[in-house]
Amino acid sequence: MDVQVNLEKVLKDIPPQVKLVAVSKTKPVEMIQSAYDVGQRDFGENKAQDMAAKYPQLPQDIRWHFIGHLQTNKVKYIVPFVSLIHAADSLKILLEINKQAVKYGRVVDFLLEFHVAREESKFGLNMESAENILQSDAYQKLKNIRLCGVMGMATFTTDTEQIRDEFRHLKSIFDQLKDKYFKHTDSFKEISMGMSGDYLIAIEEGATIVRVGSKIFGARN
Ligand SMILES: *Cc1c(COP(=O)(O)O)cnc(C)c1O
Repeated sequence: MDVQVNLEKVLKDIPPQVKLVAVSKTKPVEMIQSAYDVGQRDFGENKAQDMAAKYPQLPQDIRWHFIGHLQTNKVKYIVPFVSLIHAADSLKILLEINKQAVKYGRVVDFLLEFHVAREESKFGLNMESAENILQSDAYQKLKNIRLCGVMGMATFTTDTEQIRDEFRHLKSIFDQLKDKYFKHTDSFKEISMGMSGDYLIAIEEGATIVRVGSKIFGARN
């Protein structure tokens, strides 16, 4: 299991304008340091307390991406240092992120998570629920968060055409939001999609950020 060799292999297929988030969830800090030592700076975690525990043990120029479902009571652990929150999917969580961001004097970047998979999931917005958030007075008052784009996950399947359809759907959601609300907002630019099994398809369909874990750090238990 050589993290550096794996990372190099993954990077070879990722064009320079696409950002690789190395998903280090459940993996020890030594493995993260190993990837860091060959230049990787963006890492993803899906548990707030794990991320907060790893943060002080590693170089300070790492950009930490929170990619999991975030619970309101855990927001405070990551807001002081998080670089991008990928999976915001309610006004409630945005209110809490903003509240903590005010406390720490930060503006926290985030993506809205959309449900594009055919699989059932409790998480992720549709267009209507996203627009309800964006158009609400409560949302528009929040000054310490900044929306940078969208995030989604494809169905766990071997049917690559289905995966491709789902990524296309997310890209079309991004395009519609860009056109309707963010034409002149340069920071609304990210489409976070694609994991170890499907990041090449995601890149073909317009991903600007891919989130790759097991292909770099090995399978998780
Ligand atoms: C775990 C995880 C990944 C990475 O998954 P791999 O298949 O190991 O590459 C990407 N995105 C999210 C949201 C995850 O939870």
